Amino acid sequence: MSTAHSVLHEVFGYEQFRGPQEAIVQHVIQGGDALVLMPTGGGKSLCYQVPAIVRQQMGHGITIVVSPLIALMHDQVGALHEAGVEAAFLNSTLDWQAALDVERRLARGEITMLYAAPERLTTPRFLELMDGLHQRGQLSLFAIDEAHCVSQWGHDFRPEYRGLTVLHERYAGVPRIALTATADALTRADIVERLQLEAAGQFVSSFDRHNIRYTIVEKKDATTQLLRFIEREHPEDAGVVYCQSRKRVEELATTLQNAGINALPYHAGLPVEQRQLHQDRFLREDGIVMVATIAFGMGIDKPDVRFVAHVDMPKNIEGYYQETGRAGRDGLPAHAWMAYGLQDVVNQRRMIDESPAAETFKEVMRGKLDALLALAEATDCRRVRLLGYFGETYGLGAPGQTSQDGGVARMKCASCDNCLQPPAVWDGTDAARKLLSTIYRVHEASGLTFGTGHIMDILRGKDTDKVLQFGHEKLSTFGLGKDFSEQQLRGVLRQLLAVGAVGLQKVTTDAGFSFDTLCLTEGSRAVLRGQTAVQLRETTAAAAPKRTRRSTQAAAAAAANLGPDAEVRFINLKAWRAEVAKQHNLPAYVIFHDATLAAIAQRAPQSLDDLHGISGIGAKKLEAYGAEVLRVSSM
Ligand code: ADP
Ligand code: ZN
Repeated sequence: MSTAHSVLHEVFGYEQFRGPQEAIVQHVIQGGDALVLMPTGGGKSLCYQVPAIVRQQMGHGITIVVSPLIALMHDQVGALHEAGVEAAFLNSTLDWQAALDVERRLARGEITMLYAAPERLTTPRFLELMDGLHQRGQLSLFAIDEAHCVSQWGHDFRPEYRGLTVLHERYAGVPRIALTATADALTRADIVERLQLEAAGQFVSSFDRHNIRYTIVEKKDATTQLLRFIEREHPEDAGVVYCQSRKRVEELATTLQNAGINALPYHAGLPVEQRQLHQDRFLREDGIVMVATIAFGMGIDKPDVRFVAHVDMPKNIEGYYQETGRAGRDGLPAHAWMAYGLQDVVNQRRMIDESPAAETFKEVMRGKLDALLALAEATDCRRVRLLGYFGETYGLGAPGQTSQDGGVARMKCASCDNCLQPPAVWDGTDAARKLLSTIYRVHEASGLTFGTGHIMDILRGKDTDKVLQFGHEKLSTFGLGKDFSEQQLRGVLRQLLAVGAVGLQKVTTDAGFSFDTLCLTEGSRAVLRGQTAVQLRETTAAAAPKRTRRSTQAAAAAAANLGPDAEVRFINLKAWRAEVAKQHNLPAYVIFHDATLAAIAQRAPQSLDDLHGISGIGAKKLEAYGAEVLRVSSM
């Protein structure tokens, strides 16, 4: 009989378990319930796949995997087949005959893992099937993937998940493992309660995504900035670009296409077939950039997404972390990039203010937005802040470093913009006070509130028509800030908005035209009195980032530092993989990951023996593809 280790090695071709995987796997093999909290890309699948295989060999029968991601089941099952594991799925995409066939195989115990949608699981027909298995002691394990779907506090609440209580009520004694990448405490507590996992072992991983580099830049012209970012740092790479509106998605996708980037649009307003087609192409082809609203992404388990870019700011850190987490699931270097500006702050505030939700709910939303703004404005380590938000202290027992910064020890990571290139900061306290007193005086003089442009014009001493029309050149603050650039003042305003020291007020003209104006808030006082210091990052005149790699070289090759010969092998192997994937109607990464191909290319194998021990080559894949891999890599 196989042990967990031998399954990991022989079936999946991996040397070692990652992080808490081993403890989880052992716990579940022994029949314990488990709640697994692991970030995207952490390796949740193996936590139930290895136990499923081992427990079946122990005679316990079948593992049922509950997942809401119907669109992905085909590929997940395909990946298991490639590794030589008997798996199947049941969902609404199967016709009656095919579903019947799966049910028969299930009843005969010919399946190791069955993937099913929650609504399918709780039908009388399926319950009857499970009853039969249970009576024969052949119901081994329930794996509940995306377990946060059971919670209203999670972002993907699915009512069908509530029906999963039937699992422990009807099949008490069958172990359950629930898995999620949602980190927040409220959702976690809700999962435990809803699924009655009070007695389950809780396995909480670090949420750090060490291979993701975080960059947040000031938004000037987002389209050009994005183009430059992709062309300089990620040519030919697969990536996702998130924007707020459908219209913007289509515009940006077209702009990228015109610039020769392989981009596709995705949003909920597109016809279903087109969305499906674009998703399939993204998963199956190399180097596609998906320009999308947040409708795209849940459960996209493509491992080689090299960057996630936000051209508009998400609503909160949870959203930001989840979306950026889709980059680099394969563990190779990946990049989370965001451009953010004053208008983002204004838009998000307004969306909250105008939403029909209860005031208490809006307060929570504002607090979450503020936390994200603070992250964007931060001049210290982004990673420390991100993890801190989720209650984790970065660097505890991890390879973090501290730096001496003005005598204060600060944790640093090795890969966020602020740590890689500490920004110069300037003291914006004076500018902030002058801005606030201008807002105050304008209101005092005319009883009116004005937008950001006008307030900045007054402070910078510009006698525009509007300034003269209202006599604002006579205000005592007129021209007091002529030494500040408009960009500097924008930065100050962003930060004041971020900390709530300035508010937005909507004004509607007689003609029905409405716009946002600035007003003082409770929080303004401390700044006016000089009790709150305002520290701002110096906005450098867009220093061009270094080219990080040759433009034709794919990420994995670059990451693995392949020499010229190895790179040729790598390119040949990729072409071969694309053919195989097409024949099998599966995404390329299901055949071999980029990292595996890069390792093969590096090793220049002469015999099957040389392929042993390369991560990602299990026994079945060695048998199926070994000879071909040797042939292709000696071309
Ligand atoms: P999650 O579901 O947590 O987002 P996955 O289960 O999809 O993550 O795993 C992410 C990637 O890491 C997959 O490509 C998987 O093959 C790989 N992986 C997981 N565990 C290991 C391991 N122990 N060794 C090597 N690769 C692993
Ligand atoms: Zn950092």
